[in-house]
Amino acid sequence: MTEMTWKLQLKSTIKCPVCKYAKVVPMLLYTRRVRYDCAECHAMLKTSVNECCVFCVYGSVPCPTTQQDNHDQKETNQHFQESETA
Ligand SMILES: [Zn+2]
Ligand SMILES: [Zn+2]
Repeated sequence: MTEMTWKLQLKSTIKCPVCKYAKVVPMLLYTRRVRYDCAECHAMLKTSVNECCVFCVYGSVPCPTTQQDNHDQKETNQHFQESETA
């Protein structure tokens, strides 16, 4: 029943691992942000090659692309389970 209400979150709270300062950062669709500068201590957060983006690594909410992927994954699993029990 959550299907109808599901929508992308376009804001994520990024918490700086250095000073613990948390800030709500807007996310842009289809834009992968790999760098984030902490407004408080000016630490530069960067993602490594196997990480998606700063939101997926440091954010409270993963980026829209990952949210969409997770959602699709869930749907696929659901269909799979349904067909298996049928
Ligand atoms: Zn900081
Ligand atoms: Zn991401």
